[in-house]
Amino acid sequence: MTLGQAPLTIPHIFIMSEELNFLPSLTGSFAKPAAENPTVEMVEAAYRHHGLHWRYINTEVGPESLAAAVAGARAMNWAGFNCSLPNKVEVIQHIDGLGKSAEVIGAVNCVVRRGDKLIGENTDGKGFLKSLEAVVDPAGKCIVMFGAGGAARAIGVEVALAGAAHINIVNRSKNRGLELAALLNNKTPAKATFEKWDGDYSVPNGVDVLINATSIGLYPDIDARLALDLDSLSANMVVADVIPNPPRTNLVKDAEGHGCKVLDGLGMLVNQGITGIEYWTGVTADGVVMRTRLEELFGT
Ligand code: NDP
Repeated sequence: MTLGQAPLTIPHIFIMSEELNFLPSLTGSFAKPAAENPTVEMVEAAYRHHGLHWRYINTEVGPESLAAAVAGARAMNWAGFNCSLPNKVEVIQHIDGLGKSAEVIGAVNCVVRRGDKLIGENTDGKGFLKSLEAVVDPAGKCIVMFGAGGAARAIGVEVALAGAAHINIVNRSKNRGLELAALLNNKTPAKATFEKWDGDYSVPNGVDVLINATSIGLYPDIDARLALDLDSLSANMVVADVIPNPPRTNLVKDAEGHGCKVLDGLGMLVNQGITGIEYWTGVTADGVVMRTRLEELFGT
């Protein structure tokens, strides 16, 4: 080789072949805050395990820049994205349509590109239901649920559509609680009631499933406890917490101490992730791989 000639060995790495494809399919998340959300690790563990040339990009985006972020996702041909707090309702005005659950719930946590349209789905409630069904069939059951926000709406709708007989919504603010009870009564076959959360809640006899769908216990407020009379818990109840970080909340520990069957928030996170990945890639991801990655991170 004489001076001035390009080295012969370098250029071939830029030649495309079937084996060399430097353009991954993109997915991600728009939420604020974003740093405490472990979804990126769980989803990318699944992508790696299944040999998918896909990436999941965790970004901090609030409502003020959501329109630009969604336009960016369209421009970059993203296959879809998750939305978490505070974007789950806000995102609806920026996309092209809603799936059935998202329409009933009125919130979107997973957007899927179908053709040239971005369609909003809600996988939160489906993810919760899948975890619950692994320990108890909600059909005909009596349920108490703390909370009436986005997660509670999603869980309430799916559990009601799965045949729960009665759902008592216990919430701090009256308006949101009444609104969710009305939604369930009007759009599902379940009977829903509302009870204002005032002081320590005592769980009545006959309750089969107790759900915490509030943000109490979420990092960094990890010492927080629900206002709940722990002596009203009994061993024949299933107690489920939605908090994924940390997974071993005080509620989880207290309920275990009272002999209840307990579900932590990781099960819901993994199951809604499996549904999201399926919507985006068509692949049913291995939930064990996803949960194992989360357990490594949280040291549980
Ligand atoms: P929202 O802000 O929409 O709702 C929060 C709910 O918590 C409201 O009902 C609110 O009551 C209640 N709440 C908050 N603080 C208190 C308090 N100190 N005392 C009594 N009630 C309180 O949030 P989301 O519903 O979207 O999310 C709730 C939780 O669910 C979050 O922690 C999130 O991490 C978790 N989540 C977990 C998922 C998983 O896969 N494991 C998926 C989605 C969410 P009020 O109406 O009175 O304000």
